[in-house]
Amino acid sequence: MTEVHVYESVLACWQDCRMCGLEVDHVSHIWKDNEKVKPMQTSKQLPVIQPGATPVTMLNAPASWPQNAPSSFHMLSKPSGATCNLDCTYCFFLSKEKLYPNSRFRMSDDLLETYIRQLIESQRTPEVTIAWQGGEPTLMGLDFFKRSIDYVNHYARPGTTIQHTMQTNGILLNDEWCAFFREHQFLIGLSMDGPPAMHDTYRVDKGGAPTFHKVLRAARLLQQHQVEFNILTTVNAANADHPLEVYRFLRDEIGTHFMQFIPIVERINERGAIGFQEGNIVSERSVKPEQWGNFLIAIFDEWVRHDVGTVFVQMFDAALASWAGAPPALCIFSETCGNALALEHNGDVYSCDHFVEPKYLLGNIQQRHMIELVASDQQRQFGLHKRDSLPRYCRECEVRFACHGECPKNRFLETPDGEQGLNYLCAGYKAFFTHIDRPMRIMAELLRRDRAPAEVMLILAAEEAQLQKAFAKAGRNDSCPCRSGRKFKQCHGR
Ligand code: SF4
Ligand code: SF4
Repeated sequence: MTEVHVYESVLACWQDCRMCGLEVDHVSHIWKDNEKVKPMQTSKQLPVIQPGATPVTMLNAPASWPQNAPSSFHMLSKPSGATCNLDCTYCFFLSKEKLYPNSRFRMSDDLLETYIRQLIESQRTPEVTIAWQGGEPTLMGLDFFKRSIDYVNHYARPGTTIQHTMQTNGILLNDEWCAFFREHQFLIGLSMDGPPAMHDTYRVDKGGAPTFHKVLRAARLLQQHQVEFNILTTVNAANADHPLEVYRFLRDEIGTHFMQFIPIVERINERGAIGFQEGNIVSERSVKPEQWGNFLIAIFDEWVRHDVGTVFVQMFDAALASWAGAPPALCIFSETCGNALALEHNGDVYSCDHFVEPKYLLGNIQQRHMIELVASDQQRQFGLHKRDSLPRYCRECEVRFACHGECPKNRFLETPDGEQGLNYLCAGYKAFFTHIDRPMRIMAELLRRDRAPAEVMLILAAEEAQLQKAFAKAGRNDSCPCRSGRKFKQCHGR
């Protein structure tokens, strides 16, 4: 019997990765076998605290609920700041240590409690995500996270579901960590850049030694303990030309069903430093725009023929949401942003994890309640700027509905007509979104008809079989059956 998979929610995403800064309504990614598609439901439809109400437990509480407060938002918490036990050469977080000279980079217990309490108080949804990342969050030690669970148990409102997530390099994971993750149903993001040679090009330890074998060990431990995890792969100069090798390795050797691919775009500032969103030159480690497009296209072509419904690639899910007319599941592809913020080890809140820079500091949760910072004019403007700064070239683009100019951090090129603000990765995105249009339309239509998007594989296979038959019959001077408009001898008959 053919196994059929269907989406329960195309809004879903699984992990707050440290590179992309997700802005999602819902965390778990659920496909079910042989079930009807359920209506899409966002957490925004399920208010818990009404506007104007201030929960009695709130300390530093605003006098009334801020008008512009979103019903939910994501806060990526960095309890150990930017500190890490690795020295990945492309990591822009490491340079952020300079923002806090002489700091020990450890979130205090008082602040941990304040953070958990304010985060839960600030969400008007029945599901709250507590997202840990770094630097490397496991440097805080397991007891820190055990205490976080105690605070969650103390402050969670009845009926609230708490989702714990952590992005880690896996180096410190052991049985104890994994048992803890399993017990509290953590969703883990594990960083791995592909097979050993590609991974070890940039992901090295403080002594410059390779780390692949340690990350593999972490993946196996997570699997043994049945901890849900996805692999986060950065796409960089070392692996960008090997998309299928990377994809098949993660799928077949690592055995993961959840993947995220994040382009490395390292801007070099005028002072030669890396880490702030300035300058229009990128490092040699960065992926090139066309490489990025080709990377996504190659993996998509494999996925859409073999793996729909069994392997989940975050970028493809986000694209399907756009084609299905649902709100974008990733902030980078939404018209506006501003609901994915970052919390530093000392309580400072920044507009986004990609903008941990003095200019984007909103305040400190020990002085002002988190919801006030999230709802502040500064933060709302930050989010609107994504839309308002979009150049005309993007506004007139055919795939704008899926791209929206991607993340402002990458918008540092000029458009062909000389306007500032074109995304460095534009050529790649344009190629990718154009390439996937037809299969995405098919999957979106299947969803609309309450059918499984995975059926696209059967449809494409049947089409390709027909095409092969037509090729076999075509004469050299006939027009090519692929409808390119060229003669067969100049196209597939070459
Ligand atoms: S700047 Fe906006 S689009 Fe980019 S990662 Fe941050 S929240 Fe998302
Ligand atoms: S593909 Fe390029 S032109 Fe189109 S919206 Fe994206 S960045 Fe703008």
